Amino acid sequence: MKVNPQYQTKEQLLELYNKPLLELVFEAASIHRQYHNPREVQMSSLLSIKTGGCPEDCGYCPQAARYHTDVEAHKLMSVESVIEQAKNAKANGSSRLCMGAAWREVRDNKDFDNVVEMVQAVNDLDMEVCCTLGMLNEEQAVRLKNAGLFAYNHNLDSSPEFYGDVISTREYEDRLNTIDNARKAGITVCSGGIIGMGEAVEDRVGLLMSYMTMETPPESIPINALVAVEGTPLENQKPIEQWEMIRMVATTRIVFPESVVRLSAGRTKMNMEGQALCFMAGASSIFAGDKLLTTPNPEFNEDKEMFDILGLIPKAAFADGEKPVSQPDPIIEARKEKEALRAKELEEAKCASHGFEPRKIVVE
Ligand code: SF4
Repeated sequence: MKVNPQYQTKEQLLELYNKPLLELVFEAASIHRQYHNPREVQMSSLLSIKTGGCPEDCGYCPQAARYHTDVEAHKLMSVESVIEQAKNAKANGSSRLCMGAAWREVRDNKDFDNVVEMVQAVNDLDMEVCCTLGMLNEEQAVRLKNAGLFAYNHNLDSSPEFYGDVISTREYEDRLNTIDNARKAGITVCSGGIIGMGEAVEDRVGLLMSYMTMETPPESIPINALVAVEGTPLENQKPIEQWEMIRMVATTRIVFPESVVRLSAGRTKMNMEGQALCFMAGASSIFAGDKLLTTPNPEFNEDKEMFDILGLIPKAAFADGEKPVSQPDPIIEARKEKEALRAKELEEAKCASHGFEPRKIVVE
């Protein structure tokens, strides 16, 4: 992934972002055509596999336990339900599934083992699998990579200067470390931001500067507009104009010509013309389905109609990278072996005691 060598300083990025809109879109569209098929837009689905009850305090997030929102907390979905949802998403045209869990960080427990199984199963469906599970260490990243994870999402959200205005329970540096751990494990990185949280334009380009200074910028950069949810600290934030989304998409496209720029949350507040300009300016992915984790999103049918009108075609899975090979996970294999052994012992004990059933012990 490369950075456009024409833009290196914050001042240059600010000048770019503030260019007359149609000139900015034209420059972005010209670059987009050099590196991407301008008709292809990937349909991705975002599935909340564990909802709510998060200990963090991200000011935009209705899943934080400390805010009083309508989000109901749910424990981790079963592997079977995730497979069913993935099949539905694929049948509706999605070639990528992003699974989100409202965790502060990944813990080495049965829930994480289940997520590893989910990754293996969805990769077997020939879909790109992305996970967003909070902070993770390098060993956990390696397990996900070996399971067949294509991308890890961990957004920087905004500039380092503005970050603390929205989140206090972890540092910008923590985010960078997790991105680094995913990178070291050989997983592609999906990381982007949210505009409309009260930040200045300097913070928007400050976010892009953070990616510019990475050794390898993210392969995937989602651009979100804040969806102000009642009960969160940002509930009264005025919605941003769609022109700002177009500017942000175009600037991102120009600065990172090879990355996939994803038009993500906030599309319900945009009309088709606004979205069309985003596609022209280099967005080549949308999230499909009526929910984005817990916030509203256009329905599949509305998006299909938009694709027909604009002449867009859904992008196939693994157009931007090879399909990872899922390998057996040693921890899960060892657990299954233990469970099988225990089941055998129980059966033998039952026979030896003429039908009396010994106490069952669940192997963790
Ligand atoms: S954005 Fe993620 S980490 Fe932050 S409160 Fe929501 S679920 Fe938790």
